[in-house]
Amino acid sequence: MPTQLQQRIYEMLTTSTGRHMLDSGDYYGRNWEKNQTRSIEDFIAEPVATLDEYGSLDISVFHHLNSCLFLAPELDAEYVEFTKSSEAGHLEDIADFLESISATATASVNTYNHDSALSQVLQYQCFEVCGGEYIALQIHQGADVRGGYTRPVIFAGSFEDIAYESARIYCTGQERHPYDWSGGEWLSDGEYSRELQIHHLIEEARKVGVTEYVPCYQCGAPLEGTDSRQKVGA
Ligand SMILES: [Zn+2]
Repeated sequence: MPTQLQQRIYEMLTTSTGRHMLDSGDYYGRNWEKNQTRSIEDFIAEPVATLDEYGSLDISVFHHLNSCLFLAPELDAEYVEFTKSSEAGHLEDIADFLESISATATASVNTYNHDSALSQVLQYQCFEVCGGEYIALQIHQGADVRGGYTRPVIFAGSFEDIAYESARIYCTGQERHPYDWSGGEWLSDGEYSRELQIHHLIEEARKVGVTEYVPCYQCGAPLEGTDSRQKVGA
């Protein structure tokens, strides 16, 4: 059975944010339209992270949010009530709401402006009130990043947790060497090594004529998900 938190995040991921003039979604597809074809079980079953043959990491926004957020239904209901007749934009609504409950705004983030490996763009405002840490979260559901965000939903959670992106990818060799993505770098046993940065592995592989996959720096086996030979005809 999905948890209530999973259910709430699934609802956000399948929320229609409409079709905008700016939105190139008729060509590239809108996130909400793609997501609506998927069940919550599909999201639960998807890998936490995948790597492709170009070395590009994709972290499931569904899994990421489930690992760092907690439901805050009372505060969220208060927000919905506060904004029900507002004609202002979401960001202005959040600012007004925080003022009304005497909250302290902390980090304000749009992940599009940073190196983020998340599968969808997030926009969020972190704040503190009554000794608790909260996040007003919007998920980008359109095709064009300028528009197409869900309404802000209030969750409990900390900036440190939502901003920290992590994932583990293995090589397909017998020893299954792990590659840990941790806050923007690839680590092995908690240590940074230039040798295992994926772009470096790709560069080194190209030099010796390996172009079809990203080889493990320890055993040479393809890293999971990077073997383009397996995708031919798949
Ligand atoms: Zn290996």
